[in-house]
Amino acid sequence: MGRDTGGKCKQCRREGEKLFLKGDRCYSRSCAMGSRAKPPGEGPKKRRPRRSQYLLHLREKQKARRIYGVREKQFRNYMIEAKRRKGITGVALLVLLERRFDNLVYRAGFASSRQQARQMIVHGHLEVNGRASNVPSMLLKDGDFVSIKEGRRSRLKAIVESNQGREVPNWLDKNADAMKFQLVTTPNVDQIGLTIATNLIVEFYSR
Ligand code: SF4
Repeated sequence: MGRDTGGKCKQCRREGEKLFLKGDRCYSRSCAMGSRAKPPGEGPKKRRPRRSQYLLHLREKQKARRIYGVREKQFRNYMIEAKRRKGITGVALLVLLERRFDNLVYRAGFASSRQQARQMIVHGHLEVNGRASNVPSMLLKDGDFVSIKEGRRSRLKAIVESNQGREVPNWLDKNADAMKFQLVTTPNVDQIGLTIATNLIVEFYSR
């Protein structure tokens, strides 16, 4: 299983909740997750299958993977790394995912979705600690600075401004005028604020 390149809204319908994969559209009335949203391929008369434990674990894993836009193999590697860390494995997994470069660019409001953040990084618009970096999966450390390259600022100004209204978590220090932000400290699980049942994901990989 690679990265989900199919319809983003279809992924939300599959998981039965909004995953916020399409930027501004997710906050608009065009969002496909209305009250009548059904999983893809499920007509009005089709009965939903009984949810086995396995299915519950699988869906939670897929939800997290889709939110962060991570490939299956990469996600498994994060899980292996999380198991090596001290403390609760599920929490360590979430913290690793949060420290990804693309996630932080999105969280800081420099992009309207993690996918857009990934594109900005791959296209070489951003620097980490003053050095060019085009690897979206790079894990940032406390104290790292991310900035938009000087020559690219006018081009990206509109995107950054359009995300000004979105709340920036307090573990990031953003300077919108200078088009940069700092990862002040690694967030704890409460600060991440996502409803992901990481214990189910750990169960999935413990089979
Ligand atoms: Fe999901 Fe966003 Fe599509 Fe709504 S608009 S279904 S939140 S990707």
